[in-house]
Amino acid sequence: MPVDRELPSDEARELLSLVRDLAATELAPRAAEFEERAEFPRDVFRILGRAGLLGLAYDEDLGGGGQPYVVYLQVLEELAAAWAAVALGVSVHTLSCHPLAMFGTDEQKKRWLPDMLGGELVGAYCLSEAGAGSDAGSLQARARRDGDRYVLDGTKAWVTHGGVADYYDVFCRTSDDKRRGISMVLADAQTPGLLPQSPEKKMGLRSSPTAQIVLDGAQVDADRLIGEEGDGLRIALSALDGGRLGISAVATGVAQAALDAASAYARERKQFGQRIVDFQGVSFMLADMATGVEAARALYLSAARRRDAGKPYGPQASMAKLFATDNAMKVTTDAVQVLGGYGYTTDFPVERYMREVKVMQIFEGTNQIQRMVIGRSLASGS
Ligand SMILES: Cc1cc2nc3c(=O)[nH]c(=O)nc-3n(C[C@H](O)[C@H](O)[C@H](O)COP(=O)(O)OP(=O)(O)OC[C@H]3O[C@@H](n4cnc5c(N)ncnc54)[C@H](O)[C@@H]3O)c2cc1C
Repeated sequence: MPVDRELPSDEARELLSLVRDLAATELAPRAAEFEERAEFPRDVFRILGRAGLLGLAYDEDLGGGGQPYVVYLQVLEELAAAWAAVALGVSVHTLSCHPLAMFGTDEQKKRWLPDMLGGELVGAYCLSEAGAGSDAGSLQARARRDGDRYVLDGTKAWVTHGGVADYYDVFCRTSDDKRRGISMVLADAQTPGLLPQSPEKKMGLRSSPTAQIVLDGAQVDADRLIGEEGDGLRIALSALDGGRLGISAVATGVAQAALDAASAYARERKQFGQRIVDFQGVSFMLADMATGVEAARALYLSAARRRDAGKPYGPQASMAKLFATDNAMKVTTDAVQVLGGYGYTTDFPVERYMREVKVMQIFEGTNQIQRMVIGRSLASGS
């Protein structure tokens, strides 16, 4: 049964129906195989790009789809239920467009944004380093101004789409000031000295490559600086607010898929002469899973409505990310339990769902960091 969605327009209803078709025909049949081979599905991103799904949340006059966040996030959820790594990729690409769309000059937007939103390119966002994860402000990669260029040195870590992206949002230090010493350049993947390393070997989301990017005297034209020198951390954090809502939706989509798989199995499987769904122990577990999925969806939609209305939504995005990803971890673990021994095999997708959502409690700010953001907003009374 498709999820009964709250959609604001006929256009959005048509869009969701197109997305469901794409998810069923292009994503779901290939996910397990690509995950097994740890292969990035570049052609799937082309298909999504041509369908307009790589720029959905941006204004039409910038070349985007002009959809509100409540619609974009439900699209992500549908994609995630079919293939989490692809939905994550759409979310990270969308995040990678934010700095240029929100902080770029008109000239910069005109030059680069149409291709980024138009679906032909895939982007990456390079904030983390090996020694600077939760404490992103302590990053050490350098960008030194040399005439009309910046020369970049250092190593960015954990870059989603590292090695397959067409461009990289690179956050580097332009001075030693902790908060105002970071700047962002939009680097083309072909930049000499920008060197993607071998992908990390991961527990899940294996078809989404994650790699270090070594910057070895990489020269980037100075007109690729986004915002002013020193604006980098502010730009990075503002992009992450929207990104966290994306992760909430992706986690909710995987949790929904796990709930659907577990419910279907429980209706079929018989032990002690009856369907296991008729044992209260199983049925209560399913009831808690269903309640968690509905609550996660309601929470991310509520934060998205604030964003769409132009209200501050940072703490609410953190609450949605915290709740949706913790919930998805619980729901996918319980889905394995409902399937018993079969759940622990690759004959069913639930073990993959469980492996996929673990990292969602870690990236775009660990769930401890989300609690810090929420706690700080309570402490400041804002
Ligand atoms: C698959 C994957 C994809 C990723 N993609 C990207 C990407 O595209 N771009 C990018 O820039 N980064 C990316 N990351 C990096 C990710 O955002 C970081 O891993 C994350 O921010 C945590 O940093 P860390 O791994 O260094 O952990 P650490 O910061 O070292 O944290 C270790 C532990 O300490 C806890 N901790 C740290 N500080 C505090 C504190 N103040 N209070 C309480 N607890 C604390 C953390 O919650 C965690 O449990 C990705 C990571 C992974 C695994």
